[in-house]
Amino acid sequence: MTKQKEQAPDHVFHIVDDRNDIPNQESLTDEKWRAILDNDPTYDGQFYYAVKTTGIFCRPSCKSRPPKLANIGLFKTAEQALAAKYRPCKRCKPTGQRLPDDEWVTLVTEYIDKNYMGTLTLNILADICHGSPYHLHRTFKKVKGITPVEYIQLQRIARAKEQLLASDKAISEVGLSVGMPNTPYFITLFKKKTGYTPAFYRQIHNETIREE
Ligand SMILES: [Zn+2]
Repeated sequence: MTKQKEQAPDHVFHIVDDRNDIPNQESLTDEKWRAILDNDPTYDGQFYYAVKTTGIFCRPSCKSRPPKLANIGLFKTAEQALAAKYRPCKRCKPTGQRLPDDEWVTLVTEYIDKNYMGTLTLNILADICHGSPYHLHRTFKKVKGITPVEYIQLQRIARAKEQLLASDKAISEVGLSVGMPNTPYFITLFKKKTGYTPAFYRQIHNETIREE
């Protein structure tokens, strides 16, 4: 997933027709979708919306970025959302309680693990995971000992290593497939983290395998 943009009205009507495809939820009417997009506080308490890609649920009034319609599910109560394994948003606190830092960081980490191949910066991540970039950076580092950006890099390099050994893909393709379309940057970062260029890493490992 890359950019999320505000849904145009024609998307609203199109996807509302498909709402039966989304299991386990209150029916998503145009009215409710409008309430979510408008952050309308008069709907708070009537329903909660959860975003499947992040595992977070919110009150309709939440000021977080508008979700993609296809990714949301609705619940009548916060308890139902919790029972379906969604976690309360840090920003709008739909349960009235603060989401513990480690649980938030777990959600962020899971999101990175599934989306490292896309465009992922601290700002984008903070926006998607409903916190400020500053707060995310600090909290993530406190819980995991490294920053979110370092974690994204580690994840990308680990996946790149796998691909270098498991495929014949060109170096640029490997970089692209792990979210680093800028090949010189990919090579520089790979070398910084592993001590080898991607090509050399592939070569020495393949030689080792042949000798065995
Ligand atoms: Zn929220």
